[in-house]
Amino acid sequence: MSVCVVGHSNPDTDSVAAAISFAHYLSATGTDAKATMQIAAADLNPESKVVLDKFGVATPETMTDAGGKDVALVDFSDMGQAPANIDKANVIGVVDHHKIGDLTTNGPIFFYAKPVGCSCTVLYEMYKDNNVAIPKDVAGVMVSAILSDTVNFKSPTCTEEDKVAVKALLEIAQVADQDALFMDMLKAKSSIDGVAIKDLIFRDYKDFDMNGNKVGIGQIELATLDQVAGIREELYKAVAEVKADGRHTVLFMLTDVVKEGTDLVVVSDDAALVEKAFNGKVDGMTMWVDGMMSRKKQTVPPLQTAFGC
Ligand code: MG
Ligand code: MG
Ligand code: MG
Repeated sequence: MSVCVVGHSNPDTDSVAAAISFAHYLSATGTDAKATMQIAAADLNPESKVVLDKFGVATPETMTDAGGKDVALVDFSDMGQAPANIDKANVIGVVDHHKIGDLTTNGPIFFYAKPVGCSCTVLYEMYKDNNVAIPKDVAGVMVSAILSDTVNFKSPTCTEEDKVAVKALLEIAQVADQDALFMDMLKAKSSIDGVAIKDLIFRDYKDFDMNGNKVGIGQIELATLDQVAGIREELYKAVAEVKADGRHTVLFMLTDVVKEGTDLVVVSDDAALVEKAFNGKVDGMTMWVDGMMSRKKQTVPPLQTAFGC
């Protein structure tokens, strides 16, 4: 039975690329494995589609029920982000760059996590440390994932290790222009033409438990805020609907990657708490937070503090 390598629900490019990369690593080191993801191929986010296409890598197969399977997790260890019946799966390994989640296992497993900008950076180091060759196409999706997660090195989550990995992977993938690769991805990711508003909100969305309160945070990265000028009212309404579905707060991050800040859409039972967390004032429905690029590093921790977590 092949080990199914799988990233978190609502997969981003790192979740997809890390599954491809770790599956190849396992296979190359003697463990039969395949890359999977928790959605149908048709539902894959546009950025990841462009990346798989550009480097000619097959879309991972769909795996939504882990019951009875051997699985390896990449880019998460929170059971809330796992496939169904993960408690009935045999988890054999984890590669991640997030806080350790609530996974527990019956036996000892391979568990490798580092506080770097991307799971694919951790994987790059595994390949390098163990002298496992990275194929050109796999290097292409890995470097794309690092540029995506680190916002082309602009995110505060970006580390020296990420930069070292990118330099090496660009060479293996024979990509000459890092910025051009990133802009191609950003254009695909930030294109909102013809995208249903709800799909836009859930494209990169996570629910958190903050001191007993359900808090949702979504994010889209834009080349300019002008891209959403025509849909703001619709967007506010949709965010309010998500909030009304049993949540204390929903934040939607309209991140301007070029200006390096976020226009934060705030719908909350306690907007003052959100204002306090980010040291600003909500004007209408939004609040500009200068420098806010990373949900994980700049949105979640201050909010957790404000909620008294
Ligand atoms: Mg991720
Ligand atoms: Mg990641
Ligand atoms: Mg991400």
